[in-house]
Amino acid sequence: MSEREVRIAHTEALFRDVNERIAESAQRFNADETQFVCECADPECAERVAATLDEYEGVRADGTHFLLVPGHEDTRIERVVDRPHRRFAIVEKFNAVIARTVRRLNPRTKPS
Ligand SMILES: [Zn+2]
Repeated sequence: MSEREVRIAHTEALFRDVNERIAESAQRFNADETQFVCECADPECAERVAATLDEYEGVRADGTHFLLVPGHEDTRIERVVDRPHRRFAIVEKFNAVIARTVRRLNPRTKPS
């Protein structure tokens, strides 16, 4: 198992956790469109992605899908599955190690 791939998966899972908190507070305040953080593999990335809660839920429906600023995708590990209105990119991890790791870290599949 590649350490680099595991590290990438953990970085993206961390950004996903941040966005889960953002989505929770947006729901609490009945916000429609919200500024999420970019879930790319760059730990230094601080860019924001504007998406509605519905759009965000659509991304989270699949444990290997992530929300990115268009152009931040790393085509060695993921492919763009959708780019709604070019506002953001939805990517799917096709790298096996990363896909497995982000699925394991998916907060939505853990029993609460
Ligand atoms: Zn990014």
